[in-house]
Amino acid sequence: MDSSSEAHGRHKCAACFRQFNRMEHLVEHMRTARHSSHDPRCLVCLKHCRSLEALRDHLGAGGSSLPKAAHCAAVFAARGCTLCLAVLHITSSSHGDGGGGGGGGALALGCKMVGAGSDGSLDVCARVCLVDERENVVYETFVKPLIPVTQYRYERTGIRPEHLRGGAGVVATVKQAQERVQELLRVRTSGGRGRAMLLVGHGLDHDLAALGFDYPAHLKRDTAQYPPLMKTSKLSNSLRFLTYTYLGYEIQTGHQHPYEDCVAAMRLYQRMRAQRHRRGDGDAAADGAFHHQAASADSNAFPAWRQRELERMTPEELLQLSTPDYYCWCLDSVDG
Ligand SMILES: [Zn+2]
Ligand SMILES: [Zn+2]
Ligand SMILES: [Zn+2]
Repeated sequence: MDSSSEAHGRHKCAACFRQFNRMEHLVEHMRTARHSSHDPRCLVCLKHCRSLEALRDHLGAGGSSLPKAAHCAAVFAARGCTLCLAVLHITSSSHGDGGGGGGGGALALGCKMVGAGSDGSLDVCARVCLVDERENVVYETFVKPLIPVTQYRYERTGIRPEHLRGGAGVVATVKQAQERVQELLRVRTSGGRGRAMLLVGHGLDHDLAALGFDYPAHLKRDTAQYPPLMKTSKLSNSLRFLTYTYLGYEIQTGHQHPYEDCVAAMRLYQRMRAQRHRRGDGDAAADGAFHHQAASADSNAFPAWRQRELERMTPEELLQLSTPDYYCWCLDSVDG
């Protein structure tokens, strides 16, 4: 064993500040932690967190009783914003009012489901809405399910049998809704070459399954599946929770219109996209990998490096090399 790599004292992760007795354990940690400049960070102590939920706990702004960082929590309590988790006067981070980069490259999809099947538990799409980046409705219709509706879920959906019975043009078939949504997601550029829009939503796979089509993974921006917006347990948060916690208002209180869900998901997406993360050398490579959906196959960081070389680096050098295991939405921003 290489005794020269036995440093005095502890080896501290430059991102999450965990300490290790041996350098090889820090390298092991860095291989799996996938820290990067895209992690949510405490703006008081600069510690990296896995998710915004973990950051809220660190700042004492979360609902959990986990131990928090007393100093950071005190500063945050005095000067922090519970919506964007920035500490006022330390950062100029804005709440992301929907401006931001991108330039109209995304549409948000929302569906409302009614129940089918003998007990009404099978979700079928009865209403669909598609909203652009400026929150304009680009498509909205009731949809007539292919199989009989057994539970209208009126108290939440506000949908009655007559809504799904209406004449042509008011109620679409699943096929018509599917084709219209697909058509709107294709952009005709002046060069004649088609380009696809980003598709924003919450639980997109469920909505897309109800509409009977899929969309390329690298073009989906799902607020239920985006690691910084997920629970520490890696389960999804509800859109209602995310909207209340990070946008500061309530949705889905009475009869739910899918427009409300589209707007909430779009605002969350735009907020995440507006983050100004330092761009790393690994971003281009990571970007390409994600676009080829190969990133998940490569679960370890530093595949090209040998253990001995890594153990000779400083914690800061290791962090410089580390790349995230998900595609950060700040990379969608054209002016970032
Ligand atoms: Zn760490
Ligand atoms: Zn980022
Ligand atoms: Zn802190």
